[in-house]
Amino acid sequence: MISVVAPIFNEGAGVDRFVARLTEVLTGAGLSYELVLVDDGSTDDSWDRVAAQALLDGRVRGLQLSRNFGKESAVLAGLEHAAGDAVVVIDSDLQHPPQAIPEMVRRWREGAHVVEAVKRNRTGQGVVGRLGGRAFNKAFTGLTRVDLIDATDFRLLGRPALEALLRLPEHSSFFRGTSSWIGFRRSAIEVDIEERAGGRSRWTFGSLFRLAVNGLTSFTSAPLHLVTMVGLAFAGFAVLLGAQTLIRWIGGDSVAGFPTVILLLLVMGTFLLLGLGVIGEYLARIHEEVRGRPRYLVQERSGPVASLPEQLVRADRAER
Ligand code: UDP
Ligand code: MG
Repeated sequence: MISVVAPIFNEGAGVDRFVARLTEVLTGAGLSYELVLVDDGSTDDSWDRVAAQALLDGRVRGLQLSRNFGKESAVLAGLEHAAGDAVVVIDSDLQHPPQAIPEMVRRWREGAHVVEAVKRNRTGQGVVGRLGGRAFNKAFTGLTRVDLIDATDFRLLGRPALEALLRLPEHSSFFRGTSSWIGFRRSAIEVDIEERAGGRSRWTFGSLFRLAVNGLTSFTSAPLHLVTMVGLAFAGFAVLLGAQTLIRWIGGDSVAGFPTVILLLLVMGTFLLLGLGVIGEYLARIHEEVRGRPRYLVQERSGPVASLPEQLVRADRAER
């Protein structure tokens, strides 16, 4: 059986459209499946629609988080509650083409543990978003050697890969990164990302920046080393400048360096603050992990009750 996990945040009428489209594709392909819809604390009627869909169709299960925890946590909630032999994570705004799912399942049956959908295009994104996304993916791939170029969150995980992913203890998980980090036999298919079927993207510049910083700091400590490198470079520079100043002073030549002083102050101040900021990010990360709060809280469920594999997973987690 295949579990399809979709996070939902204020999608409104999009929920019905999404469920209809998925039912059409999945039954059309003759797959046995369940649909796990995770309402990430929507403030519109999304949850009512999910609950209604769960009433109508026994294969639809709904999970309502107690507030907006963010897409990453919503996906995690869905993954922990999925009962299938393979799980497909897909956006509920129909930007990820559901018709690719049968092909992903075919790859999985042929032996792949992780099937990733790779972007062929980037519709539905502005120029800034596109450039920003590309720059981040390049930087991430370069710093962590986890390939994110053209990656999407649209992917299929077989049960063993899913269990491996759920065993990662970190709180600030970054699905796209962690599901690559676990390894396993992988396969990739190319998909065209569609325009959003309705509503609009909820990502703001701020939330995207947060996601980028979270993703990076939970994967690599390279920025910390960068601070050290910049510090070293400055030390070298300081020795040169100090020597020059001393020599001039000894030669009776007064140093006329007012602009130099201002420039030095500015540059040093900037790097000091940046360095402190980078260290602060890691400190915040550690603080979060140490606190160990749950990633999400479930407020309500609809549809069939927890199935067997889920209980097993939970019992296993409780044991640990
Ligand atoms: N989403 C969510 N919680 C959030 C923001 C988004 O569950 O806080 C869901 C949203 O409903 C959609 C998916 O995550 O199914 C992708 O969101 P969106 O389309 O806004 O992002 P984009 O496609 O622009 O990356
Ligand atoms: Mg979208």
